Amino acid sequence: MKMKFVSVLELLVVLLCCTDVVLSDWRCGNEYGNCQFTSGTCSGSYVSGLCYGSTNRRCCVPAFNDGRCTSRRGTCQSTRLACGGGSYVSGLCGGPSDRRCCVSRTGTSASCNDVTIVSRAQWGARRPRSTSRMRTPVSLVFIHHTDGRACSDLASCKRVMQGVQNYHMDDPKRNYSDIGYSFLVGGDGKIYEGRGWDRQGAHTRNYNSRAVAISFMGDFMSQSPTSSALRAAQNLIACGVRQGKVSGNYKLYGHRQARGAGTTCPGNRLYSIIKRWNRYTAGTAP
Ligand SMILES: [Zn+2]
Repeated sequence: MKMKFVSVLELLVVLLCCTDVVLSDWRCGNEYGNCQFTSGTCSGSYVSGLCYGSTNRRCCVPAFNDGRCTSRRGTCQSTRLACGGGSYVSGLCGGPSDRRCCVSRTGTSASCNDVTIVSRAQWGARRPRSTSRMRTPVSLVFIHHTDGRACSDLASCKRVMQGVQNYHMDDPKRNYSDIGYSFLVGGDGKIYEGRGWDRQGAHTRNYNSRAVAISFMGDFMSQSPTSSALRAAQNLIACGVRQGKVSGNYKLYGHRQARGAGTTCPGNRLYSIIKRWNRYTAGTAP
């Protein structure tokens, strides 16, 4: 009996170790790359943050010819991933045959069918004091948390939104022209419109003119956002790509990865979650 107990334990250890490896390397597989040590030759380019283990072990992503898909504002990706609100078109992407072009139904501006967006009017936003347009598509996406109260339904999320906007506009140390973030995410799984895709925000110093910021309402240092909130944020980014607001090869970062950020935003728990997301990139944001 004792022998059996030990072998079950050993089996568990092996399972835990290897699940971790498979999970982490899987993100490289999603990009059709191979995890290898950077001492080896790579005919494409190395991308960090997609492979398990040593920092010298990176994802070698082959160089594909995706021009025909990009010119239709589509994104080349594995058909294993959902092409929400759009459809896959073959023959526009380089690489293996299950790598296809996800384009919106209209071909130009996809609607966010799989995302519920609560407009500024719907949550009772104040008018911005001023606005400045941002050039799109942006190539950087930052994830934040508000480090304040969480919310779970339309009524409570509206209150939080109004509170955040008042704080950003009225606090003398901030004095922003409007709520700082591009979009916020409620625990109810809805997206609340901040400055939107096309207006420059006030969220990530040094990056505001070329990044969108998605902020989860709440404090996610030791708690995770709801699964519907996590899904909504990912769907929103995918939609931004389809709409041509976010570049198809964008990089995803947590606020703490901004140069000189000096913050724990978006909280330890949420940060560990986004590390597994598509296009999360390790290291300091460029
Ligand atoms: Zn932040």
